[in-house]
Amino acid sequence: MKSLKDKQLLKSQSYWQGRWHGAAAQFDVTNPATGQVLVRVADASAEHAEQAVASAAGAFKEWAALPAAERARLLLRWHQLMLEHQDDLGLLLTLEQGKPIAEAKGEIGYGASYVQWFAEEAKRVYGDTIPGPAADKRILVLKQPVGVVAAITPWNFPNAMIARKAAAALAAGCTFVVKPAQQTPLSALAMAELADRAGIPAGVFNVVAGTDAKAIGKVLTQDPRIAKFSFTGSTQIGKQLIKQCADTVKRVSMELGGNAPFIVFEDADLDAAIEGLMASKFRNAGQTCVCTNRVFVQQGVMADFTKKLQQAMTSLKLGVGTDDGVTIGPLISMDACDKVDELVQQASEQGARLHCGGKRSEAEQLFYQPTLLTGVTADMAVAKEEIFGPVLALQSFETEDEVIQQANDTEYGLAAYFYSRDIGRIWRVSEGLAFGMVGVNEGIISNAAAPFGGVKQSGYGREGSSYGLDDYLDVKYVCLGGL
Ligand code: ADP
Repeated sequence: MKSLKDKQLLKSQSYWQGRWHGAAAQFDVTNPATGQVLVRVADASAEHAEQAVASAAGAFKEWAALPAAERARLLLRWHQLMLEHQDDLGLLLTLEQGKPIAEAKGEIGYGASYVQWFAEEAKRVYGDTIPGPAADKRILVLKQPVGVVAAITPWNFPNAMIARKAAAALAAGCTFVVKPAQQTPLSALAMAELADRAGIPAGVFNVVAGTDAKAIGKVLTQDPRIAKFSFTGSTQIGKQLIKQCADTVKRVSMELGGNAPFIVFEDADLDAAIEGLMASKFRNAGQTCVCTNRVFVQQGVMADFTKKLQQAMTSLKLGVGTDDGVTIGPLISMDACDKVDELVQQASEQGARLHCGGKRSEAEQLFYQPTLLTGVTADMAVAKEEIFGPVLALQSFETEDEVIQQANDTEYGLAAYFYSRDIGRIWRVSEGLAFGMVGVNEGIISNAAAPFGGVKQSGYGREGSSYGLDDYLDVKYVCLGGL
């Protein structure tokens, strides 16, 4: 990895108890844009995960007892180091994940912003006093860290999905063990290197990188020393992990799949809607859980909107993420590419009209062309399943009531977007959409100050904002009597 300015950020071992640990076996981390092996990483096992949990359990008491201001100081140092090394961290991220370098650097800034936010919030974990039922008693409410936190994170945001969880956990006074996705361990390990340099004590932040997700996952969901488990990934695996957490009654946060509707009403500013849609759909080549999945356009503006949208899509440039001007990188794997292609071909066969794209850029590669389909109907798989690729699937609608009902007709409930300039409609639709997050005249809504999370089968728990900190705090009621 010649072009890293700081070569020490490339790590190939897991990190716990403040040290790097090898393993008997290794696994390849490859660049999805080229298929080249970037580095071989020590393949941590379930036993290694147990050791990491032991280190987090051992460090908990002291970390929780540190004054909040001291934890905040260490987190701010970590934040600062992430920004100082934003170029290198961005490059590592692009190399292992594929997204364009500008987006990758953006993700580092975004991930770091959670560390900063929670560093500040650490100092504001206020308790409460409540008027009691008797003159000689007082009701006190203390907020205390839940304990050791374990997390499993996906490959689509290799830095930010860890930063969002770890920053809140550490700010609250919890210690933390994460298993990153096996496709993207390098970003996680670089975060560990910077946590180490920031002076975050041994055992507080630990990374276990390994390919046996099932076995490591068992440890992280079943070890009684762990108080809370936080997962971002597919609904299917999430459901399984919730069950695994049941035996030890862990607190659980789940950030699962989505099927985001994007609604364009006739009264919308169409240019603004196109801009929002392009950002919400094509970021990370469509591989985010809040990416627009279904586009509903009101009949009267359908023709105009489609024309403008197709025009806007000509600005997209598909290619290797480290190349200049590229706006869409490869998909993460051949399976992902096959699935996207199948959804598009199926929709075409069932009567959808293909305006552009609709195939891979080159055979045997992971680049899928930005695709526009119209005439999509609710029964098509492309409207029901999470696409996770650069495919826009447009459906038309007539009335507000009808579109709210259609938008909500999914088991998912993560993000939804709509464009309208009518204030009454903005209230009605915001309240009517059964989703955890709603973007009104906005296509990009996630930030550290806001509560990110879903309803229905998109999960529970929130990341970011003070709600995000609550997920890592226990409420303790102290009854003070005999006054
Ligand atoms: P994706 O489709 O984004 O890869 P997954 O839910 O399969 O979504 O993966 C998200 C994370 O969950 C990854 O870190 C992956 O290694 C992990 N994972 C996958 N299967 C399991 C499992 N059976 N137990 C624990 N973790 C798992």
